[in-house]
Amino acid sequence: MSLIVRRSARLRRISIRITAKGDVILSYPWLCPKSEALRFLESKKDWVEKHLSRISSVSPKEIADEDFKKAVDYLPPRLAEISGFCGLEYSRVSVKNMHTRLGSCSRDKHISLAASLILRPWYLADAVIIHELCHTVHMDHQDGFHRLMEEKCIEWFSQYKEDPEIGAILQEALRSRARYPLSHALRRRQLKAL
Ligand SMILES: [Zn+2]
Repeated sequence: MSLIVRRSARLRRISIRITAKGDVILSYPWLCPKSEALRFLESKKDWVEKHLSRISSVSPKEIADEDFKKAVDYLPPRLAEISGFCGLEYSRVSVKNMHTRLGSCSRDKHISLAASLILRPWYLADAVIIHELCHTVHMDHQDGFHRLMEEKCIEWFSQYKEDPEIGAILQEALRSRARYPLSHALRRRQLKAL
């Protein structure tokens, strides 16, 4: 995700747009100070985050047969491990070539994971797994879902706080003013990994 700031002679109001890729475009009128535009963006942070969290149409990368096999070997046991740790149960798991999403969870708690997750950093695959496990409790992306996701991410990733990358993410979350700081920090990494 990146923030693109544009000053426009034609605009009368500050506007925020989110692209399909998850870029945030902040446009503001010529006579408006940039600091005011940034304050406006800050005040709409929840709205922006809500929209970014809907962009699950993160296009999974093309995956070779060999990587697909690795995904089939790695993802289901990892899901089982995280499920046990978090106390969130699922009924079945499938690893698939998914083209528009990284994972899904059906009403009967059947979790599907994109094979391309194997190409991402391990902790981002974990974050997707936790996301789908939280859907076994909340089928939507309302507050209850985000609270549970945040709680489970904190429990799970705290085990790895000695890992430099996870340490950095946890630090970022501590400094963040986002409502769900760890989910937010992971989400940013997820968008960067696209
Ligand atoms: Zn979801």
